[in-house]
Amino acid sequence: MKIYNTLTRKKEIFKPIEENKVLMYVCGPTVYDYLHIGNARPYVVFDTVRRYLEYKRFEVKYVQNFTDIDDKIIARANKENKSTNEIAEKFIGEALKDAENLNIKPSINPRATFVIDEMIELIKRLIEKGYAYEKDGTVYFDTVKDKNYGKLSGKNIEDLIAGNRILQDENKKNPTDFVLWKPYKIGEPKWESPWGLGRPGWHTECCAIVKKYLGDTIDIHAGGEDLIFPHHENEIAQSEACSGKKIANYWLHNGFINVDNEKMSKSKGNFFTIRQIAEKFSYETIRFFILSVHYRNPINFSDEQLEVAKVSLERIKTCLFNINFMLEKLNGEEKEKEDLYAQCDKYVKLFEENMDDDFNSAGAIGVIFDLVRFANTNVNDNSSKKFASYVMNKIINLCDILGLKFNFEKNSNYVIIKLVRKRTEAKKNKNWVLADQIRNELLDMGIVLEDTPNGTRWFYK
Ligand code: AMP
Ligand code: ZN
Repeated sequence: MKIYNTLTRKKEIFKPIEENKVLMYVCGPTVYDYLHIGNARPYVVFDTVRRYLEYKRFEVKYVQNFTDIDDKIIARANKENKSTNEIAEKFIGEALKDAENLNIKPSINPRATFVIDEMIELIKRLIEKGYAYEKDGTVYFDTVKDKNYGKLSGKNIEDLIAGNRILQDENKKNPTDFVLWKPYKIGEPKWESPWGLGRPGWHTECCAIVKKYLGDTIDIHAGGEDLIFPHHENEIAQSEACSGKKIANYWLHNGFINVDNEKMSKSKGNFFTIRQIAEKFSYETIRFFILSVHYRNPINFSDEQLEVAKVSLERIKTCLFNINFMLEKLNGEEKEKEDLYAQCDKYVKLFEENMDDDFNSAGAIGVIFDLVRFANTNVNDNSSKKFASYVMNKIINLCDILGLKFNFEKNSNYVIIKLVRKRTEAKKNKNWVLADQIRNELLDMGIVLEDTPNGTRWFYK
């Protein structure tokens, strides 16, 4: 299996530290508002990475933080006359609901404020080792002391310094230095520290959480590509200066979801929350939409693109429901040649080849469609029950690896199936009036029927 590593800018063969085990960390959201679909991308993409690794029999320990202390949370809390904790609690709850709806597997979700002691310890250690300094209650990381600073983003410290000539903060030794601890300001939450009352800077929380929950070195560290610089660069600088060890072997970054070619973000106001979109399209469609593009490529968000995703997903569902429908009538007698099973298995291999190539979910979805076409051609009323369910389960299993689930009973398609059956029954009883009535009822729902010698199939208009 190959993974593109931002650190080396190459696709590399994946080799975890411990055989059969993967330690994985994903930077989570800052919780001051509902998640938008841009935030949904790392959730869906890295949950799919995890699911695929689990399918490959790795045991995955997956940690994703919630940033619950930050300027934007403080601003919202002050505006609403609430505590930062109240704001964070509310939006963590809402984020977890969105994640569940998107079929994201539960994981370990520490909050920044759970690791204040660990962050203080880390900063103390950096000062002891000469990588950090304190001035007037603020602690800074000395980027010039770190000989590898810039290795993830490919930036060079001299260029960075040259580009930041004007020192905005007189207490900094170098313009590239970043804050590890900031002093208390009225109206902000505060904690005791060796440098007085204050709160931690953003980058330190992920270092402390990784160390506490996963250890000094992990296999995969991930997040959106906006985090490469400065967030992940600064995480590497602190963690590696502190432990003397590499913090992560593979760095994965998802591309942006854009609106009119601009990154969707809360601060720009060009965002749509997951819930707003879920009013028009299902959560399954949102997940499918995200996975239908390779995770490193940009996605342009539009209703039209979601509509395309919806129609594509319906093609898979229609195939599954048709087979499910047929299954009741089929008998056990086996008629298929071995070769037909082998042909079906070929698609599983192709699916794996795509996912093994840097989690190419777009290619993998393409293979699912080829398998659907295979099913539409080869599964019919003359098939054996064994073969029909074999093909159906293959499609379901591949979708399941991508976190796309099909619930026959709960799905609205179940209603369609029932109506189609009622019509078949009516036709058998020569009740043409009822049969036509049902056909029209389905047509009103956007469903077209096709009577074939092997039974009735149905499609979305
Ligand atoms: P934030 O709450 O802004 O810290 O974002 C949480 C996660 O969502 C991070 O991994 C970001 O990189 C990611 N993210 C934010 N906006 C977008 C976007 N428009 N497209 C893709 N990922 C995004
Ligand atoms: Zn982080």
